[in-house]
Amino acid sequence: MRIDIVSIFPDYLAPLELSLAGKARQSGLLEIAVHDLREWTGGRHRTVDDTPYGGGAGMVMKPEPWAAALEALVRPDGSSRIVLPTPSGAPFTQAMAHELSGAGHLVFACGRYEGIDQRVIEYAAELGSVREISLGDYVLNGGEVAALAITEAVVRLVPGFMGNAESLVEESHQAGLLEYPVYTKPATWRGREVPPVLLGGNHAAIAAWRTEQALRRTAERRPDLAHPSRVEGAEELRLATPSDAGELLTLQRACWVTEQQANPDVSIPPLHEDLEDVRAWLGEWTVFVLRRAGRLVGAVRARLDGEAWEIGRLMVAPDLQGQGLGRRLLEYAEAAAPGEATSYRLVTGAGSTDNLRRYRRAGYRRDGAVADGLVRLTKPVG
Ligand code: SAM
Repeated sequence: MRIDIVSIFPDYLAPLELSLAGKARQSGLLEIAVHDLREWTGGRHRTVDDTPYGGGAGMVMKPEPWAAALEALVRPDGSSRIVLPTPSGAPFTQAMAHELSGAGHLVFACGRYEGIDQRVIEYAAELGSVREISLGDYVLNGGEVAALAITEAVVRLVPGFMGNAESLVEESHQAGLLEYPVYTKPATWRGREVPPVLLGGNHAAIAAWRTEQALRRTAERRPDLAHPSRVEGAEELRLATPSDAGELLTLQRACWVTEQQANPDVSIPPLHEDLEDVRAWLGEWTVFVLRRAGRLVGAVRARLDGEAWEIGRLMVAPDLQGQGLGRRLLEYAEAAAPGEATSYRLVTGAGSTDNLRRYRRAGYRRDGAVADGLVRLTKPVG
């Protein structure tokens, strides 16, 4: 990969000689050249800025030197990526670093003062593909720090750059999550212990712990990346109220789509009900709702029919299935059965193999068909 960086303060980019980027340059994986924009200025004063049209504070970088610099550096075949650091750009992300690491040539144009004349940005797009990138929602004095940061994030993703490529796989932002906490020796330091699971050598348990920690940390610190409802614990299971109707309607529609796919010829009521229907059955059944971080993520309803405790509408948000929430809701519904109930009863689609397997594991057995494509399952109480 080749990187050209243009700045009016080339000394600012001296750190590129250090650390890993320096090593990669020595090994030939990376070629970096830093250029002084003033090389492309004319006149004795080598002027790079002028007053803004329309007035206002500060100076604006003139178009002529920038055009000359880009014409000299950008490859004529259009394959160069021109990176313009600017607080008005798209926020820099790991995904962007990956994308840029696949480019053979990057050209950074580091602005100063109030920025670069807008026509340069338009012209750059005619020479190569332009990315306007922001390091974050704050204003730096110049684009150099951004160019350094972006270069470091990009270069470490270039194949062969990192000694241990595996360390890239587990990093923050790699799987959309922040990294789990890390520890090294000694196992006890100033009275603080390393989490015991990391000392046990059980790789599956370590992997599970790390995933859970990464999720928890992300949900706490960056709820924009992982909704807190993905974290186990802090759940609220309670009787439904009329105000839950809207969310129940949404959740049941989301949950029964796969049922419809598994049982294409069966008419599935939860997919055809409206808000009034949900409000109506909320008044007729004992309904439990499960919330995590305020979000309604599961529900179940039950009522007595003769001596059978009829359980239904067992639903878990599609993105949270497979965590045992459905099993817990079912146990909860069973535990709520009144004394006169002698059996639990539920109905599912004959084609719902996953449901049938789960209910079987929970002790339910087939008790005949109730209608075309639907089977009844029962389990004795106690
Ligand atoms: N007047 C500009 C504005 O409000 O958008 C800010 C100009 S800033 C003082 C000068 C230069 O610093 C910009 O042209 C850009 O190259 C760089 N810069 C400042 N903040 C940045 C950020 N958050 N991300 C990337 N580059 C930034």
